[in-house]
Amino acid sequence: MQVRAKKNLGQHFLTDKNIARDIVDSLKATNLSRILEIGPGMGVLTNFLLENKNYETFVIEIDHESVEYLHKHFPQLKDRIIEGDFLQLDLESQISDQPFALIGNLPYNISSQIFFKVLENKELIPEVVCMLQKEVAKRICSGPGSKVYGILSVFLQAWYNIEYLIDVPEYVFDPPPKVQSAVIRLTANGRTDLGCNETLFRKVVKQAFNQRRKMLRNSIKSFSSRIEELDAMLLTRRPEQLSVAEFIDLTNSIEKLLNN
Ligand code: SAM
Repeated sequence: MQVRAKKNLGQHFLTDKNIARDIVDSLKATNLSRILEIGPGMGVLTNFLLENKNYETFVIEIDHESVEYLHKHFPQLKDRIIEGDFLQLDLESQISDQPFALIGNLPYNISSQIFFKVLENKELIPEVVCMLQKEVAKRICSGPGSKVYGILSVFLQAWYNIEYLIDVPEYVFDPPPKVQSAVIRLTANGRTDLGCNETLFRKVVKQAFNQRRKMLRNSIKSFSSRIEELDAMLLTRRPEQLSVAEFIDLTNSIEKLLNN
């Protein structure tokens, strides 16, 4: 029995076992006793995950047909197969209140939402290894000065070290996706706080990138009528030129204006 690929669920099954093994081998899971796989499909990664005796594997899959396939082919997983939507999953109560790693060949249509969920649960998720659309992988890994550097790059790089691991061609999937793919690894950078008001940081980064071609002077003026009191050089810069550390400094400067 094979699972019939459903486009609306981003189902492109990886057919190359060597690449599957490379992806699983990229997971360090240092000191982690559990891992969660998002969207196992027919279990090409799960197969290798189960070879590892140092951690316990959980999977979450939204597609009922795939879930039936998994129960049949991986009976040892038993109640560690969760049928449902990763975006709705309560990680602490359903997976673990202790840190665990995430892995998956992601459904590309919801990869950004998956990363926002990772950020919301960053204390629980010190490592992520995933395959995703190459364009999004490049964006997440890019730094200041790059045209594709954006909100998700800044948010994720604030908390994780990010490595671009491998490119994966279309022809190793069934059916082949229209886009190219890549594998990345996120590893918690050890920060426990940003050294600024994090709610304001998120607002500043979003606001600045919402008008990414504009100088900060224009894009962030709604935060304070005294924005011109900030460093004149800084105000002439565009968001894509600012490092994470500079966004943190900018947040602190804006907060000072708001409190004085
Ligand atoms: N891991 C398999 C592989 O590599 O061949 C399948 C990868 S496929 C790109 C993405 C998988 O995620 C599909 O099996 C799909 O059904 C599942 N999926 C889609 N949306 C999901 C969601 N919100 N929560 C959990 N799984 C989801």
